[in-house]
Amino acid sequence: MSKVEEFLTKAEEQEIVAAIGIAEKNTSGEIRVHIEKETSVVAIDRAMEVFRTLNMENTQERNGVIIYVAVKSKQFAIYGDKGINEKVGVDFWNSTKDAMQNHFQNGNFKQGLIDGILKAGEQLKTHFPYQDNDKDELSNEISLGE
Ligand code: CA
Ligand code: CA
Repeated sequence: MSKVEEFLTKAEEQEIVAAIGIAEKNTSGEIRVHIEKETSVVAIDRAMEVFRTLNMENTQERNGVIIYVAVKSKQFAIYGDKGINEKVGVDFWNSTKDAMQNHFQNGNFKQGLIDGILKAGEQLKTHFPYQDNDKDELSNEISLGE
């Protein structure tokens, strides 16, 4: 597997985008997925970099979350903005990571991402419940790198 396009079909991409829509009905938090081929740095560092590149700090409550995957490097990371980190502990994303890891190990990337997204939505709900006047502050589309 070398190209990002081989990682997910268009139909699978749409399922993932739909999962983000569902997750964001639980929370005011905003979830984005970025997929690229490889990373030369630790996944969490690259996730933070992509987070900034995508201007994901542009949320009112600073509660954006990026799920980052480097396909060929077989690495992934979850990074949440400071609004989240001010409220939760460092192990906050562990259950989300676990949900993804098992599927990834079995080569089921689509389901890993969907489960991770839905889990992240549930996790965020406690601290950032959905508001009636919710805006979709960050696009639900998958961000694809090289
Ligand atoms: Ca929203
Ligand atoms: Ca969104």
